[in-house]
Amino acid sequence: LQTQLNQAQKMESVGHLAGGVAHDFNNMLSIILGYGNIILEKTKGDDPLHEYAQEIIDAGSRSASITRQLLAFARKQTIEPKVLDLNESLEGMLKMLRRLIGEDLELIWHPSPIWQIYMDPSQLDQILANLCVNARDAIKGVGSITIETGKTTIDESYCSGHPGFIPGEFVLLTVSDNGIGMDPATIAMIFEPFFTTKETGKGTGLGLATVYGIVKQNNGFINVYSELDHGTTFRVYLPRHAEPITSAEKKKDAVILHGR
Ligand code: ADP
Repeated sequence: LQTQLNQAQKMESVGHLAGGVAHDFNNMLSIILGYGNIILEKTKGDDPLHEYAQEIIDAGSRSASITRQLLAFARKQTIEPKVLDLNESLEGMLKMLRRLIGEDLELIWHPSPIWQIYMDPSQLDQILANLCVNARDAIKGVGSITIETGKTTIDESYCSGHPGFIPGEFVLLTVSDNGIGMDPATIAMIFEPFFTTKETGKGTGLGLATVYGIVKQNNGFINVYSELDHGTTFRVYLPRHAEPITSAEKKKDAVILHGR
C-alpha cells in the first residue's frame, strides 16, 4: 500500500510540474511553428532554407504532440462515469483499435460473460488505446494482440500474496501480446511517469502512468506478467458495479409520511 500511495503522490506532483511546463512550452512552440510556416511559404522548393523550415516544422509538430500528451496527463479531467457493459464498450472500440495497431498484426477479441462496471467511457478508451499501442510497439514483425474480458472474485488469500489488492468482485480486462516482453528491471519501472525505452520522439513514458492513474481512480488494480522474448499480459481489474439505485431506495423517494 505504501508504494501505491507514493506512486499516487509522485504522479500528482509530476502532473502539476509537467502541466505547467507543457503549457508554457506550447506557447513557445506555436511561435516556432508560426515563423517556420512563414519561412516555408516565403521560400521556394530548391532553396535549402525551404527544407530547413520543413524540418523545423516537423520537429515542432512532434514536440507539440508530446506537450499535448503531457497536458492530457496533467489535466484533472472531469469524469462522467456511466454504468457500462465492458463487452459492449469494447465492441464499439474494435474499429478504432484495429486502425491503431495497423494492418500487419492480428487482433483477437475474446469476450466472456461479465458484470457491469461504472466508469467514464473515455477513460476506458484511454486504457485500451495505451495498452494496445504498447502491445503493437512490442511486436517486431508478425504477432497478435489479444483482448479478453472476464470476471473474478478476489478473496483474502489472493490479497495476502498480492500487496495492494482488496477483496471483492471485479470485471477483468486482459490485453496480451506475443512481443519482445520485458526483463524484471523494466517491469519495476513501467508505471513511473516518463519511464520509456522507446526512441526519442516515439515514447513519452506517460502511457502506463496514465493507465495506472485511471485504474486507481476507479478503485481497480493492474497486474503485469511478462517474459522476455515471449510477450506481455496486462490485467486490469475494475470493480463490479452494484445496482445504481436499488428498488428500496426508489421507494424511499416516493414515501410520504402523514402526520396525525
Ligand atoms: P511509452 O509507451 O511512451 O514508452 P508507457 O508508459 O506506455 O510509455 O510504457 C513505458 C515502457 O514500458 C515502454 O517504453 C516499454 O519499455 C514498456 N512496455 C509497456 N508495455 C509493453 C509491452 N506490452 N511489451 C513490452 N514492453 C512494454
